Formats: sequence, C-alpha cells, structure tokens
Amino acid sequence: MDSQSQPVRPDFTKVRYVFFDLDDTLIDHKRAQERALVDVWTQYTELQQVDPLELASQFARINYRLWEAYRNSEVGQSELRRLRFEQTFRQLGVQAPDWREVDQVYMECYARHWDWIPGARDALIQVSRKYPTGIVTNGFTFVQKKKFEYFSLNRHTRDLIISEEVGHLKPHPRIFEFAAEKAGVKPSSLLYVGDSYVSDIAGAHSCDWKTAWYHKGDRLPDPNLADLIFSSYTDLLDALEVPHKP
Ligand SMILES: [Mg+2]
Repeated sequence: MDSQSQPVRPDFTKVRYVFFDLDDTLIDHKRAQERALVDVWTQYTELQQVDPLELASQFARINYRLWEAYRNSEVGQSELRRLRFEQTFRQLGVQAPDWREVDQVYMECYARHWDWIPGARDALIQVSRKYPTGIVTNGFTFVQKKKFEYFSLNRHTRDLIISEEVGHLKPHPRIFEFAAEKAGVKPSSLLYVGDSYVSDIAGAHSCDWKTAWYHKGDRLPDPNLADLIFSSYTDLLDALEVPHKP
C-alpha cells in the first residue's frame, strides 16, 4: 500500500458522530445478491442453460450500470427492477421468465441471505458506546427498512437515513448535508464509514467530513481522499480508540 496516500494515524480526535454506509460496509449485500440469484436459477429451468454464477455476474454488472442511471434520475425504481432482469436474460440469450415473478422470488431469497460483514456487528456496537452513530444508505426504502428491522439497527444507531426519502443518492452533497443537520454536528466532526470510493468517500469528503474506507483491494485512487483505509474492523476501532470487545 502506498504510504504517501495512507496516513499512518488519521486524526479522528475531533470526531463527534459516526455514520456508516449499510450495503457491503455493515451488511454483506454482494454475497446475499449472488446467493439469491443462484436460488432463482434453481427455480427456473429456462435459466439453467447458463451457469448460475454467470447469471449472478451478468446481473451484478447490469444492476450496477442501472443504479448509475437511477442515481442520475434516468430510470425510475420500478423500471430499474424490470430492466435489470430483462437485460440480464437478453444478454445471456435465455428465454425470459416474467420479470415480476422473478423479482418477487429474488427479493424473498435475497432477504434470506442477509448477514453481517465479519466484525461489523461488534464494531458498530462498540463504536455506538463512544459516539452517536447513524446509517446513510442508498437503496430502496422498502428493502432498507426491512434490513434496519432484521438487524435491529435502531438499537445501536440514532439516525437511519435512506436516499429515497431524502430525494438524492450519495454522493450528492444534499444527502450528507441532510445527515449533518439531523446529527446536529458540524461536518468536520463527522466521520463516514463506507465501501464505495465514489459514493461514500469522495461524497463525504467533498462535504468536509472525515472518511474511513472499508476496502479490501490493493489499488488506490490517486489522489486518495480517504483519511483511513481499513480491511478489518479492528483497524477502524483502533483509529477511533474504541475497545474491540464488549
Ligand atoms: Mg456500500
């Protein structure tokens, strides 16, 4: 790792509030999505002429691109839910089952595979004993609210903020400004913890927040705007001088 772009000890002494991203920061969304698509594959013989992991990877690629379009208000929510299946089936050249039915099966299976990122639950609990904490998440309100409930996130967090309710998705400054207003803390005393460099780190940094990037890869952007890069939650706890275990 480039020592020039990674401060050894980020200065988090002025932090007064910690906001977390949800998907792939606290909750393992990618794994749940992949497993749900394998479940979908097992239920539809039309899909079984392709490899289930090929289905999952095409869906992930198409879904990512459609979320970009959703963020730019180029497609709506129901259009996104339709197109991500229709385009995946077309790309794979498979006879398409009705997308509404597949979407329903997918959503049910997706929820069955929800689980924490390793170390994230304990870290959230420990951080919440020292700081007020919150969640700022892009995503559909009806799905994210179920996650809040399933993981009892209101027990450890004060503010649960969903992009759809604010009207802007990260990295739009308005969602970070909205969160800062709710927290009642000036931006330079806010820390944002997230896995997306563009949505989370660059977005929060541009609003003058401190940032901690949950990142497992080796490649770093240049310049790197993250105050901390961590791949294990113990490193985040150390940087915040928070004990590891309850
Ligand atoms: Mg994320």
